[in-house]
Amino acid sequence: MKNDLVDPKPKIVWHNIFFFASTGLIAVIGAPLYISRFGVPVFELWLTVFYIVITSISITAGYHRLYSHSAYRAHPVVQCLLLFFGAAAFEQSALKWSSQHRDHHQFTAKRGDPYSIGEGFFYAHIGWVLFWAHTLRFKNVKDLKTNRFVMLQHRYYLFWALVSGIILPFAIGLWYGNLLAAFIFPVCARLAFVHHATFCVNSVCHLFGGEPYDLHSTARNNWMVALVTNGEGFHNYHHRFPSDYRNGIRWYQWDPTKWLIRSLAALHMAWNLKEASKFRILEARLLVHQELLRRRESRRKKPIRLERFFSDFEGGYQVLRSRLFIWEKNTKEYRQMLHGPGREPSKAIRQRARKTMNISKQRFKHTYQRRERYLKSNRQPTADAKTNLQQSRS
Ligand SMILES: [Zn+2]
Ligand SMILES: [Zn+2]
Repeated sequence: MKNDLVDPKPKIVWHNIFFFASTGLIAVIGAPLYISRFGVPVFELWLTVFYIVITSISITAGYHRLYSHSAYRAHPVVQCLLLFFGAAAFEQSALKWSSQHRDHHQFTAKRGDPYSIGEGFFYAHIGWVLFWAHTLRFKNVKDLKTNRFVMLQHRYYLFWALVSGIILPFAIGLWYGNLLAAFIFPVCARLAFVHHATFCVNSVCHLFGGEPYDLHSTARNNWMVALVTNGEGFHNYHHRFPSDYRNGIRWYQWDPTKWLIRSLAALHMAWNLKEASKFRILEARLLVHQELLRRRESRRKKPIRLERFFSDFEGGYQVLRSRLFIWEKNTKEYRQMLHGPGREPSKAIRQRARKTMNISKQRFKHTYQRRERYLKSNRQPTADAKTNLQQSRS
């Protein structure tokens, strides 16, 4: 059988080197020079900001969450807009992008990952587009090949990209402002910003940041990257639950892509929004806590003395897990009783269901909070903590 993971010889892609170098240099040198010479071009700057937002959100909500991960479904009008402005980012067609991205998730940091962090920061950031060393396999995007909008954009990608990414912003800038500023700001500077922000997800978010959901992945949660990528910086969560339409799951986490998808759903322009169940999320966090605890204990100078305590903790973890499943089961049953087909449940049944669900929820929270408190403290376990753990097992 032909091994389609055989890597081709790395080749220097000269047109990419020229493209990324020229847009980058114009952004870093041309833009400040223009401002120092002719002053701040207010209209062109606003146009640039608008274009940064619209092109990068088309990549995150469209190329990434809609096409690569099928995290939701969208109305044809939404799809056309996402594909049109996604092309303006000059990050290849949605079909190619999704194929590479699915490979990235399947082979993260290993051979077969197009932008593997295993090859170093520079390669994962931009080296992979300049020194192409991977094969494009379209086997993993068979579902997208049946989408006529995706295929239309793929076939006429260059035309779409030129119209949406260069001609349109340049024409708007020219109509209101002047030729030079229209070329420097909404075209070159905007492209450089969107490119490097997106690339940071592959480089920075695979090296720097927290790992609250998965300790065995190279992906990290980095809120600073989230700020410039419409929420894509919560990458540890994303690699753990890739088909969730959200990346930042907390209300305070900056994830405008999630807010856009939710707003589209409220307007009936998006549906089938996929979310990881909160029980699975808690289970992932528990596993991380458990692993951290094991690591901490193994670093202690006298681990033998703590064997008993550690086995208690293992027991506590199992209790916590089983309570989590009971909570999940009860919640499902409760929802079915309230909203399921058949007769409307009587007041008594409803009250009983709510009570059962609340009890298991409270018990779970109680046990969970105790563990969290212990993990946050850097103290040696005290007799008090031992008693608490034994109690939590009962
Ligand atoms: Zn990644
Ligand atoms: Zn992804």
